[in-house]
Amino acid sequence: MHYFRYLVLAIISVNCFAEPQNLSLLKEEIYTYHDSGEYDKELSKVILNATEFIIKRANANHNEKLAIVLDIDETSVSNYENIKDTEFSQNPKVIEKWLYKAESTTIKPVLELYNTAKSHRIAVFFVTGRKESLKNVTITSLNANGYKNWDGLYFRSDDSHYKSISTFKSAIRKNITMQGYIIIASIGDQMSDLTGGYAEKVFKLPNPFYFIP
Ligand SMILES: [Mg+2]
Repeated sequence: MHYFRYLVLAIISVNCFAEPQNLSLLKEEIYTYHDSGEYDKELSKVILNATEFIIKRANANHNEKLAIVLDIDETSVSNYENIKDTEFSQNPKVIEKWLYKAESTTIKPVLELYNTAKSHRIAVFFVTGRKESLKNVTITSLNANGYKNWDGLYFRSDDSHYKSISTFKSAIRKNITMQGYIIIASIGDQMSDLTGGYAEKVFKLPNPFYFIP
């Protein structure tokens, strides 16, 4: 009976707090999620589904110009080492500094999907929220990570400001559609990569490291 009373009190006291999750513990949880292989496992599962879908769609194709759209950061390439070094810094200046270093590493399942798309004559367009001034370093990084012969690479202009990057990305998908392509899949790690239409199917990859509205 006593035990029950303490249990009830404990539950009530926990429920009284509006305290958010502890930041240090949350960081540890994210490191473990990535370093244990769980992140790779979940990402691979999404990419496997996407690959199966695009192959099926390509095999049923009747002279349509098929395309897929890929985001770059945390979709085609990983910045995890820099994210870890800066302890999840969300400071745009810090992020830009590591983007200029072009140290991103390949997200292998996505590179495989990329090559599968190309071999099935599906055009591949990169649509990134990176600024235009990062164009050269981005091309260097994509090439270094094995991405070759893409069909288009779109950046936002340096002076652009969007409440949501979805405004920019969906406008580019509309533009690609106007060029006569059918975007069968759009793949990204943020919901803002994927909302706004102009894609038959969207595939959301995990990213607990940062949020882009
Ligand atoms: Mg991204």
